[in-house]
Amino acid sequence: KEKLRDDALLKKSFSLSKKNWTSEDFAWSVQLRKALKDLFRIEKLRELQLPTINAIMSKEDVILIMPTGGGKSLCYQLPAVISKGITIVVSPLIALMEDQLHGLRKLEVKAGMLYSKADKESVKMIMTALVDKNSPIKLIYVTPEYMAKSNRFMSKLQKAYQLEHLERFAIDEVHCCSQWGHDFRPDYKFLGVLKSMFPGVPILGLTATAPAKIIVDVQKMLDISGCLVLRAPFNRPNLYYEVRRKPADKETCLAMIENLLKNRFCDKSGIIYTTTIKDAEQLTTDLRSKGIKVGCYHAMLEANYRSEVYSKWMSGKYQAVVATIAFGLGIDKPDVRFVIHHCISKSMENFYQESGRAGRDGKKSVCLVLYRLADVFKLSTMVFQDKVGLQNLYKVVTYCLDQTSCRRALIATHFEESWEKNCAEMCDRCRKPNIGKQIDISRYCRQLHRIITKAVQNEVRLTALKLIDAWYGKGATTLRMSDIPVPNFTRETAEAVVGHLLVNGYLQEDFYFSAYSTISYLKRGPKSGLVLDNDHKILFNYELC
Ligand code: ADP
Ligand code: MG
Ligand code: ZN
Repeated sequence: KEKLRDDALLKKSFSLSKKNWTSEDFAWSVQLRKALKDLFRIEKLRELQLPTINAIMSKEDVILIMPTGGGKSLCYQLPAVISKGITIVVSPLIALMEDQLHGLRKLEVKAGMLYSKADKESVKMIMTALVDKNSPIKLIYVTPEYMAKSNRFMSKLQKAYQLEHLERFAIDEVHCCSQWGHDFRPDYKFLGVLKSMFPGVPILGLTATAPAKIIVDVQKMLDISGCLVLRAPFNRPNLYYEVRRKPADKETCLAMIENLLKNRFCDKSGIIYTTTIKDAEQLTTDLRSKGIKVGCYHAMLEANYRSEVYSKWMSGKYQAVVATIAFGLGIDKPDVRFVIHHCISKSMENFYQESGRAGRDGKKSVCLVLYRLADVFKLSTMVFQDKVGLQNLYKVVTYCLDQTSCRRALIATHFEESWEKNCAEMCDRCRKPNIGKQIDISRYCRQLHRIITKAVQNEVRLTALKLIDAWYGKGATTLRMSDIPVPNFTRETAEAVVGHLLVNGYLQEDFYFSAYSTISYLKRGPKSGLVLDNDHKILFNYELC
């Protein structure tokens, strides 16, 4: 039975995908062109915008996957202004909604927004508009929390539905529905009721990043399996991808960033991402002490202060914003020339989204990641409780440690895109191919396992740092092993070896809670049994030096 259903769904999505959605002969095509030109003052629609709009106007459910900055909003704003009824836009962030409302106000499009702190008057106005067929309001933005909690809103929606005044739902950041995503939000679960509560009202899901597995999950959640899925290509040819080793010493690291901002990125605008608020503040202070004009942005700052930082950056008074990922959604600056990750991202999805804020104008821009092993544990202790938190993080580590593959190919593969295109030397690997060859690191793995075993016998737990110390014959004498030779490569290389063993399951993190923090210790991983066999090889593409 299930198979029959799956076949039917496949057939449905196939026939949907075969329809000519780019036609200009729909009943609304003329009106659409006119609104686009006269109201939005846009000459040309971008790829996938027209098919999305036509499909959603035809009352089909659609999922649109398009990189950040691609122009997803227009795909529901334009239908909203050429429709009689109301478009409900579900959006997770108030700042994002405010941005959009601001933009719409300039175009004289009437829209409202509902969220927990909205003032009574405007809530009342919006609730009335919902059930008033003559209301000029075209779009209502609402947070998923508000929807889940407000019975009043849901009952008004039902009335609007009965009046045939409810045109469609647009769900922004729709990947938040899926637990497999990098950004699961429990309140999105509630959206699963929409299809059965409002049969016939089409749903448009929008997201910037979503592997097939997540899209299937989202479709199930929203009860729109088999719907039309439109996916824009992910490759951003104008972004140059680069990973550098992050110096362990703070001063050296700071000097490196100072040098970048004063030379390579001189007079250019950018973003520097950090993991924690503390890091963002510290790095801002440090860079300012070097005479560099930067602003700091994170969630704990007041809204007024944040928007001031944002405008100073927009106008060029700040060369860069040092920010946590709170600085993100809704940024609309076309000439961001560099995005530096002072610490790696939690997932490839995050990385793609954050680095993707560079070069929206199509001009060459740099996405630089500073990688070091210690940062992996800083993040792992933050994400290990998520279902796929570690798995997501390790993919980023793999991306950073890879010394041979084209960065673009790695990103494309992650997003399940086939990669036959040319990188055109737009990544560090393609520009300067690595001469290092594949080596077998299984004997190092055995050595590390022995050190761990000895520590366990001594009732000591080892962090990665302590493990590497012991390998080099440093640290507590009880942990050293005289018959294990000190590695004849640098500590950075040793860290890379440990990283590779970790992401491949030969080592494993073991989390312990202390009074103030979570600590990650290393133990033998699920694959450690394999290395008991002396012929087992662990291949690593890395230049041991
Ligand atoms: P997304 O939600 O996909 O990240 P947005 O909807 O915020 O992107 O759009 C990003 C920017 O692109 C906005 O400034 C928008 O006005 C602009 N834009 C969208 N579509 C077009 C188009 N067809 N031509 C020119 N600019 C566009
Ligand atoms: Mg958007
Ligand atoms: Zn490349």
